[in-house]
Amino acid sequence: AEVVQKIAAGEVIHLPVNAVKELIENALDAGSTHIIIVVKDGGYKEIMIRDNGCGIHPDDADVIANRFHSSKIRSVNDVYNIQTFGFRGEALSSMAVSGKLTIVSRKADSDVGVRIVVSGGTRTHTPEHGLDPGTTMVVTDLFQTYSPSEVKASVYRLTSLVSRYSMANIGIKFILNTPSAAFKSPRIETTEKAIWIAAVLGVPKVFEEHISSKHPSFKAEIYGTPLREIKPNTRSSKLNFTCFVNKRLVTVVALEALIKSHLERGVLTCDSVVAFLTVDPSMLDVHVSPTKEFVTLRNSESVMEVISESFGKVIDERLE
Ligand code: ADP
Ligand code: MG
Repeated sequence: AEVVQKIAAGEVIHLPVNAVKELIENALDAGSTHIIIVVKDGGYKEIMIRDNGCGIHPDDADVIANRFHSSKIRSVNDVYNIQTFGFRGEALSSMAVSGKLTIVSRKADSDVGVRIVVSGGTRTHTPEHGLDPGTTMVVTDLFQTYSPSEVKASVYRLTSLVSRYSMANIGIKFILNTPSAAFKSPRIETTEKAIWIAAVLGVPKVFEEHISSKHPSFKAEIYGTPLREIKPNTRSSKLNFTCFVNKRLVTVVALEALIKSHLERGVLTCDSVVAFLTVDPSMLDVHVSPTKEFVTLRNSESVMEVISESFGKVIDERLE
């Protein structure tokens, strides 16, 4: 049974970035506004994440990080549920089965917090005093061997992951320390998404395009760094494309291809584009793979057609 569990765990947590994504989503689910991530060796050696969210009740010390233990009750029709299908109550248990998970947490309304250590088949928990409200999780021993180049690649992936979550979560303070690279959310007060995203990307401004449609029913917001002309027949620099569908970070191959083809048509380049799509949950097909979440949209031709027409106009205006 242990082997089966380990195999299952390996499918979920393939790279440090997979673990960090799960931990960030948990912190966001807990209502956190401050999320600090510190990793050693690109997360291969250790991942530490601290949040100021709702915390974990000491009564949960016996069950937390058990397979399928989840406090998140979601209806079947809830898109979040559909998207996390397969990971429901599995992230922490995977980390605790293949590695060692230390949880130190206090709820704002309890005086005493709890320290829980789960590793393989063993579990201990003790009361912990003097904690700020919120949760700290430390994951170690998840990866046995890794090379310097894997560490380097992981630092890059983590920086990109955290900056993406930062773009989507206006006002939330993310800090990542790797320590060879670091990321910090902008320290600005704004409710304007375009201003926030520009600040995260470190550019003076971004263009924005809002698209909505009744049939098919969806909304899209596209933000991007300024478009630049390139010489014909030169390779454009790589587009850093980010897509959130119903608040979840996913890969939508068709949308990325569409944006790229319009840029190519205009002989233009652009460093970063981030798209936020809001669709009816029934339109989503989610394929969860170890490294990425891919989404295909049912009826995607008509959605892509509407987006293409709108984004095409942005390019056309540039070309006039
Ligand atoms: P899921 O997120 O699908 O519920 P996880 O294994 O990721 O499964 O987490 C299991 C449970 O642990 C969550 O349902 C939640 O109750 C609790 N939990 C995990 N991370 C945090 C956190 N940062 N703050 C508060 N509770 C948490
Ligand atoms: Mg989770």
